[in-house]
Amino acid sequence: MIIVLKPGATQAEIDHVVEKIKAAGCTPHLSRGVERTIVGAIGDEAALRQLPLEILPGVDQVLPIMKPYKLVSREFHPEPSVIGAGGVLLGGKRLHVMAGPCAVEGRETLLGIARQVKAAGATVLRGGAFKPRTSPYAFQGLEAEGVRYLAEAREQTGLLVATELMDPRDLELLDRHVDFIQIGARNMQNFRLLKEVGNVRKPIILKRGLAATIKDLLLSAEYIVANGNPNVILCERGIRTFEDYTRNTLDIAAVPSIKTLSHLPVIVDPSHAGGRRDLVRPLSLAALAAGADGLMIEVHHNPEEAFSDGPQSLRPEGFASLMDELRRLAAFLGREL
Ligand code: PEP
Ligand code: MN
Repeated sequence: MIIVLKPGATQAEIDHVVEKIKAAGCTPHLSRGVERTIVGAIGDEAALRQLPLEILPGVDQVLPIMKPYKLVSREFHPEPSVIGAGGVLLGGKRLHVMAGPCAVEGRETLLGIARQVKAAGATVLRGGAFKPRTSPYAFQGLEAEGVRYLAEAREQTGLLVATELMDPRDLELLDRHVDFIQIGARNMQNFRLLKEVGNVRKPIILKRGLAATIKDLLLSAEYIVANGNPNVILCERGIRTFEDYTRNTLDIAAVPSIKTLSHLPVIVDPSHAGGRRDLVRPLSLAALAAGADGLMIEVHHNPEEAFSDGPQSLRPEGFASLMDELRRLAAFLGREL
């Protein structure tokens, strides 16, 4: 249920509405917009319907939330949410590019890539320490050692760092050492894991599952927010279709669609979407033109020797020239990079 308050509603009136919702055993969520304040009420619909909300002082309208996802919906929170860590905030005017290797492969190589992507203008270093690999015989990541290297790269370069969480047992470690926790495509519907990351305040980058609809993605985000962590950034990374020329099919329409349906920031990963280096540039440009708040791009100093995803990784020089081009596009779009 959404309670829209009158433009001039007083604090006492807002508090009164909030108290009534709590007394009915439901949870109020306050959203202060430029024009109006909205109180979202989540909980037992029957109990809420019993409340005489329409006649409370300061209340303009009481509306049901029609969508299956509530807290992440635009109805619930009409203003875009700006989410991030440190100075890296996504969802505002400024665009951010997260870049780095698919996997953390070693200390020196990670530090080298970190310096190069930072010089090119990236603000977040990405790199997997726990890797979700299709084959159990493929490189699984450096695990805790990889997290240490990320933390060191963070200290040396000032970049924030993002890495994937696959198992709740590693949550404490990541919460302590990294700035963004990524939930990968393969775990988008691992609901226990989603609930666990609801218990921390760290921004979560939730990647769209290989066969997940936009609604599925938003319901997974709802799991995290409903469990206490409002800091979710959604990531379109391509979905599996009948087309096998590219690794996945980048659903470019998902970007404006999600931005209409939800207040959460949206980023695009052109590397896993296309699966090929030559596609990273056009897909990145398309993503920003479609309204994405940022990008996540794989960069490797020597893609031929990369432990994973070499064919889709940009070399540092290629990344730097792409960043120049993205800056020009950002200016055209009225955004900053
Ligand atoms: C990744 O970003 O390292 C990754 C494994 O991506 P995805 O979960 O989108 O496949
Ligand atoms: Mn990868």
